[in-house]
Amino acid sequence: MTEKDELSVNTKHKDFLRVIIDEDIRTNKYGGNVVTRFPPEPNGFLHIGHAKSICLNFGIANDYNGRCHLRFDDTDPTKEDMLYVNSIQEDVRWLGFDWNDNMFFASDYFEKLYDYAVQLIKMGKAYVCSLNEQEIREYRGTITESGKHSSYRGRSIEENLDLFTRMRAGEFKDGEHVLRAKIDMASPNMKMRDPLLYRIRHANHYRTGDNWCIYPMYDFAHCLSDYIEGITHSICTLEFENNRELYDWILDELELSLPRPYQYEFARLNLDYTVVSKRKLLELVEKKYVNGWDDPRLSTISGLRRRGCTPESIRRFCDSIGIAKANNNVDIAQFEFCIRDDLNQKVPRVLCVLRPLKVIIENYPDEQTEMIDAPYYPHDVPKEGSRKLPFSKVIYIERDDFMENPSKGFYRLSPGQEVRLRHAYIIRCEQVIKNANGEVVELRCTYDPATKSGADTGGKKVKGTIHWVAANQAKRVEVRLYDRLFSVPNPDTLDDVNPNSLEVLTDCYIEPAVVEEKLDVRYQFERQGYFYLDPIDSVDGKMVFNRIVQLKDSWTRAAKVEESKKEVKKPEVKQSAEVKQEAAVLTPEAEARLKRYQDNLGLNAEIADIIAKDADLSGFFEEVLYVYNNANSVGNFIANELSRELKDKNISELSFDAAQVAELVELIDKGTISWKIAKDIFEEMLEKGGSPKAIVESKGLMQISDARLLVPIIDKVIANNPENVTKYKEGRTNLLGFFVGQVMKQTGGKANPKLLNDLILEKLTNN
Ligand code: ATP
Ligand code: MG
Repeated sequence: MTEKDELSVNTKHKDFLRVIIDEDIRTNKYGGNVVTRFPPEPNGFLHIGHAKSICLNFGIANDYNGRCHLRFDDTDPTKEDMLYVNSIQEDVRWLGFDWNDNMFFASDYFEKLYDYAVQLIKMGKAYVCSLNEQEIREYRGTITESGKHSSYRGRSIEENLDLFTRMRAGEFKDGEHVLRAKIDMASPNMKMRDPLLYRIRHANHYRTGDNWCIYPMYDFAHCLSDYIEGITHSICTLEFENNRELYDWILDELELSLPRPYQYEFARLNLDYTVVSKRKLLELVEKKYVNGWDDPRLSTISGLRRRGCTPESIRRFCDSIGIAKANNNVDIAQFEFCIRDDLNQKVPRVLCVLRPLKVIIENYPDEQTEMIDAPYYPHDVPKEGSRKLPFSKVIYIERDDFMENPSKGFYRLSPGQEVRLRHAYIIRCEQVIKNANGEVVELRCTYDPATKSGADTGGKKVKGTIHWVAANQAKRVEVRLYDRLFSVPNPDTLDDVNPNSLEVLTDCYIEPAVVEEKLDVRYQFERQGYFYLDPIDSVDGKMVFNRIVQLKDSWTRAAKVEESKKEVKKPEVKQSAEVKQEAAVLTPEAEARLKRYQDNLGLNAEIADIIAKDADLSGFFEEVLYVYNNANSVGNFIANELSRELKDKNISELSFDAAQVAELVELIDKGTISWKIAKDIFEEMLEKGGSPKAIVESKGLMQISDARLLVPIIDKVIANNPENVTKYKEGRTNLLGFFVGQVMKQTGGKANPKLLNDLILEKLTNN
């Protein structure tokens, strides 16, 4: 895919704007040109809502080989600043868009706009009004009552020209006069009741300085700026719907030469649990609820960038929400999904312990440090890259991965129990050391040298896999965990700010491979989420990591579990006998799980039910998810394959662990092996245990998904069976199966069936 393709908005289903543009091209309205613009006012930093507008405007320009202007709509001297101009350019560029030479400022058009105003006055279509602000408001009327004429509406053209010239010359104070369009004080559209075009503001403008003391209003400046730049499609958000009539009025009454731009409105993006309004963002910044415009909790582009979001994920998100004509709120989970989806494919996996608990491995040699070769992309088999992961006698594990009195379904470390250390050995907890307050401060464990990851474990199996780091080699780092900035979906006031939106952990330990001084790096800390090295605070050898996003949507999950708990307590409503019977066999915990698996993990009812009703199976399922977070694939495998094996067996009797099941499911998902081969491997795992990857490799079971390898075999099969080819071409299409079968046989069943099907079909139809 070329960059251009990637930047353009999905064109499979054309949105209403592209439909309009297609029609304009068909009728040759603009000689085939498409010119859009992104027109921010430089009075704050851009936010995720602006990203939607940017993706839309630049995306359309890309799709139609047109151009998109970056225009600073800087007609209000009191709020604008060069600081914002610079940040806006940086953000648009970072998002991946380029305005080329087309950067403009409305303030560059002040002279031209003034001339247009003079022209309107000369045409008798604008007048200087000397009512004060309050009177103007009163005269305007209400939605149900028409307004009344200003007593200055009848001023002569000469008097208007004289007053307007003197307004510009600075003879009057702020508010003494305004220039108004002469339209219709009885118009049902309030915007058309003699709207203001110019006002007096004795203020210093960040670009034009003190050159001007009258400034054009948005409605006057915007349509004419569009016209001056040759914009064809002026796309804005729905709140400007009523302004459209005025947009058209100004351009039409001035009798400008055609073609002229038209305005179209689309729904603005509103995101749950955050604010997308520069005004509200400014308030959060100024009142120090956050640490500046680039605070990673904000929905500003600079905040998202500092947090570690990629531009690709933001573009994909904007693409995924579509272009609608009705306002609606977008669930922040959808944004987080896009972030995760993008990072999942890109970033290396490393180990970092956020809340350390010291573990001493008593039977490991004191001075020894072993370097384990650990892949960076264990989830993506063909992708290369690994690092040396040191292992030694003293390690840190996550405090939460130990439970002195484990609850049912807890498969990690507890006294007397075993757990696998990711990429390393199985350890057993022998002794728990506590301080005077009875808090656990250290564990004494033993390791089994025969259980090194990837090796034949001699039938040893454990359910859980946890992450860890070697104490003598790990680097201490700071980790910042961000939660939603607001605790309610539609925040009203700053009282809704979530007091726990930032958690700073200063005693975290990361493996040494990450310590290189590289900026702009992202990692997955296994089981913890995706992280980004903070570009500002990581200085002088100190490393600070921002959590970009968690691996799972724990937020809605927690909320929903709470909800389902409540529901369980509710008095029973009338239910059908059948449902009642079903409900009777589920414990409240199982019911909560069922709901969670369906609502949050998206499992279908049947699969969710099979897993949820069995506490052991659920625990195992969640362990697998820790390692490979694809609920659908994992759920499918557990419910269909594993659960069958458990009819007459306990989970603890299985000869493999959760990580190995994760590995197997992942191999299927990646297309490395087919389902059929996966089942064979699973059989072997059931009998002898072992790592699926090792089995695949030792037996050469990799699925052939490379067309270059399959095509020669297909060609041979086709050449050897000319009669069947003829029959196929005569209409016996069911012979397709014959060809597929022949090739399958020759590849020992390893050809990727879908690819094979496609290739053969193509050969048979095109030759
Ligand atoms: P805010 O309300 O945050 O101050 P704004 O509309 O005043 O935003 P502008 O600088 O005028 O900010 O916006 C530039 C462009 O971005 C406009 O075309 C506007 O329609 C668009 N835009 C602003 N907010 C959103 C949003 N939430 N969703 C989509 N487009 C938006
Ligand atoms: Mg605005």
